[in-house]
Amino acid sequence: MDDSRYNVFQTDDGFWCIEQTFVRSFLFVGEQEALLVDCLLDGDLKARCEGITDKPVRVVITHADGDHTGCAGQFDKVYMHPAEFDRYTLKNKAIAPAEPLWEGEVIDIGTFRFEVVLIPGHTPGSIALLEREKRFLIGGDSIQSGPIFLFGDGRNVPAFLASMEKLKKLRGSFDKVYASHHGLTEDPAVIEDLASFAADVLAGDLPEPQDDPGGKAPPSVKLYSRGNAHFLLSER
Ligand SMILES: [Zn+2]
Repeated sequence: MDDSRYNVFQTDDGFWCIEQTFVRSFLFVGEQEALLVDCLLDGDLKARCEGITDKPVRVVITHADGDHTGCAGQFDKVYMHPAEFDRYTLKNKAIAPAEPLWEGEVIDIGTFRFEVVLIPGHTPGSIALLEREKRFLIGGDSIQSGPIFLFGDGRNVPAFLASMEKLKKLRGSFDKVYASHHGLTEDPAVIEDLASFAADVLAGDLPEPQDDPGGKAPPSVKLYSRGNAHFLLSER
């Protein structure tokens, strides 16, 4: 199948980034196996991975929204936090069996070694992956300076705040965040902006709402921005 829809390149940290329009996946090639993080929208992602490596590919999903699970059905199984199982089934037509991936589990593929950090808020079972030795974090949708969806089913601002506070305590372990949307990398300082803005929102201290610039959200949802933090919230 034509995979020209993907933009593929190698990052400074020696792994692959596979972008499709507004979203990206990451492919880590280890000594024994490869690790694919997230499954984009559509196309033949499995074939694209096999074009990069002949190692067996393990698939991990940061969270089960449709732009991260579109090609999941091409693989034998996919790993995610069990709090995403329900969402994964609801949001997808062709799916591979979901296997549990728990907080604190270590994914060691040789060359790369990740710890699973549970960060609910954007979705109930959103995870980040921490590479302590190489000092970077894979943050999914939760850590970025683009608009973060915090409206509708499963989104939870108090949980998002708790997750950002959790990540602040891990700040000494990484120097860079790889994001699924917008800029490829973020300065970890954005976590402080996200935490303080989430606290402001919960305290009712809100800036003027704007219309969603992406036009994907329903009209009752507005963009609220402060510094590098941008949240899409139901109008309040
Ligand atoms: Zn996303």
